[in-house]
Amino acid sequence: MGKKADYCPMWERLGMDIEAHQQLMNALPSMFQEAILDQPNRPRGMDYFDLAMMEIHGARIQEIVNHKEAGGKVIGAFCLYVPEEVVLAAGAIMVGLCGGAEVGIAEAEALLPRNLCPLIKSSLGFKLSRMCPYFQSADLVVGETTCDGKKKMYEILRDFAPVYVMELPQTKSPAAKKLWFEEVKRFKVEVERLTGNQIDKKSLGEAIKFTNRRRKTLQRLNETRRANPAPISGRDALLVSMIAFFDDYNRFSEKASVLCEELETRVAQREGVADPSTPRLMISGTPMAAPNWKLPHLIETSGGVVVCEEACTGQRLFRELVDESNSSVEAQLRAISKRALKYDCACFTPNDDRIENVVKLAKEYHVNGVIYGVLQNCQTYSVESYRVEQALKRINIPMYKVEYDYGMGDVGQLKTRIEAFIEMLAR
Ligand code: SF4
Ligand code: SF4
Repeated sequence: MGKKADYCPMWERLGMDIEAHQQLMNALPSMFQEAILDQPNRPRGMDYFDLAMMEIHGARIQEIVNHKEAGGKVIGAFCLYVPEEVVLAAGAIMVGLCGGAEVGIAEAEALLPRNLCPLIKSSLGFKLSRMCPYFQSADLVVGETTCDGKKKMYEILRDFAPVYVMELPQTKSPAAKKLWFEEVKRFKVEVERLTGNQIDKKSLGEAIKFTNRRRKTLQRLNETRRANPAPISGRDALLVSMIAFFDDYNRFSEKASVLCEELETRVAQREGVADPSTPRLMISGTPMAAPNWKLPHLIETSGGVVVCEEACTGQRLFRELVDESNSSVEAQLRAISKRALKYDCACFTPNDDRIENVVKLAKEYHVNGVIYGVLQNCQTYSVESYRVEQALKRINIPMYKVEYDYGMGDVGQLKTRIEAFIEMLAR
């Protein structure tokens, strides 16, 4: 990663720990090779996304640094509820900061309880260990009141980075919707203050179109995964979603459209990455932030193929569009706030929308079984697994729940259990 160009001076200017970062960069290529590049029969359109991942701390960061040197701002976020349209409309770059690796967890555990989900520990750890150039580039880090661990972590993060927190309600009552609309408006004022740019109906309208275009492309890509045989592996589909959190919106949409065309041709020719008799699985549960391919990698090396992700790094990323027909900033912001509250993160209660959606996806993607993946100590998604399993039982789809973390210690045991589940589906 970053072998061709020497990015060290840039990383140094960003205040990174060069030595520790180099160790991470040395470890990643072999992981990436094994989980992603070594897969058979990959679509050619994945070349761009492979390169984007290999250059994730290099070429993309160079673009972000150039943007900053030209006076632009960078805003980092940990959650899909943060309105990206507002960030883009002010000419800023939005990046995802959720940590998906063991990096920095030891540093984070010095400040946080150990029995907290690895995503929260890794997110803080990325900052504490100075190994994430996205974190180092961020002029503002936007948190949200979703789960308890995250919102308390933001209080600590304030000591290390400028943090702004949005108050996300946990129900969808009329009062909650009003609160969230006010929060979106408050966020617009904050983004305008940070960037010095006024957001008007033209810039916001364009930003809504950009973000919708990206969502529509991801919808199109995922439509192809309903076919049997599956034209793309779950690992590759997840890689595309992961890149969406970092890449330039227009370039991403263009490259993903090229991939879509190839996948549609594959579907027409009944060409796929797995034999049509391969059990089809959906992953449901907590997000899989880069570079966490653990579950799809385990599933797809145990006899199954992943055809759908019911997660923020899957369907929730692109499922809902923002209404583009509004002609005032107020109405546009209302449409943005409405879209977000159609989402069904497990931090909401009651959360019947999610239960219904899991069942709908299981049917639409013709899945034989569901792996419910929960990051260790994630209470919201773990507790909600009961209702998801009951709903799937009613349509005769078996579900298997696995709890995991970012380490490798549990891989052998998880693989044995996942293999047994897939064998049962294949019978
Ligand atoms: S799972 Fe919930 S808290 Fe996490 S990114 Fe998704 S919406 Fe946000
Ligand atoms: S995985 Fe669960 S505990 Fe971790 S940040 Fe997401 S909602 Fe919170």
